[in-house]
Amino acid sequence: MAAKTFRTKGIVLRTDRLGEADRIITLLTIDQGIIRAVAKGVRRTSSRYGARLELFSVIDAQLLSGRNLDILTQVEVLYPFAQLIARDYDLYTAGAIIVETALQLFAEDDPDPSHYRLTLGALNALARRHHDPDLVLSAFLLRAMAQQGWAPQLGVCGNCGTNLNLNFFSVPQGCSICDDCATIEAMDLPRPGSQIAAALLRGDWDLAETAARQTQKEIAHLATTYAQWHLERKLKSVPVRQHGRTS
Ligand SMILES: [Zn+2]
Repeated sequence: MAAKTFRTKGIVLRTDRLGEADRIITLLTIDQGIIRAVAKGVRRTSSRYGARLELFSVIDAQLLSGRNLDILTQVEVLYPFAQLIARDYDLYTAGAIIVETALQLFAEDDPDPSHYRLTLGALNALARRHHDPDLVLSAFLLRAMAQQGWAPQLGVCGNCGTNLNLNFFSVPQGCSICDDCATIEAMDLPRPGSQIAAALLRGDWDLAETAARQTQKEIAHLATTYAQWHLERKLKSVPVRQHGRTS
């Protein structure tokens, strides 16, 4: 039986070496979930793929379906985010957390286009510098968690219901916590962190942009902690971003 050819759009989440000259490309596609495909000869300098299959690139691809791995036969770049993001350390480390989260969170057999759109939107905002990288990263993580049914409850205390003195967040409970209800496990999220995080979750960028630099950092720390708690694993890209800032 002849192998089947198909086309799809996808975001490069990861690339791995395969043998001397090939790579395995992991794509978050618009209509087939996450797929892994072989790019033959991509590591040769004469490769016709050139830099098209770098991390963060959004491509239109033609593939040949295989028994274990598909094979890329044609690649066109739709958005050259790789070049735009990889040249800036702050953008790159935020982007690395976004693609690693997408890889861990979105299932291979779950062709939900909203996963692709959320990830594409975040990388686009990073590449074009629409917002501060910490805000883009936080918005992506909070919305990705919400897509999975883990939307944090922000703006009222998850314990007593007050909307006053919300200076903490409970990661296991997934909610804001007021000063009176805070226990030792609650993370610091000083005001107006809770309101700003809620704004990011609903896409209110005008309000989110008013956040002070310190608040943006605190929300990004909260969002990465919250994501890792739900993923039940550490993301390798998180300490890379934190390290780059303290050194
Ligand atoms: Zn309370």
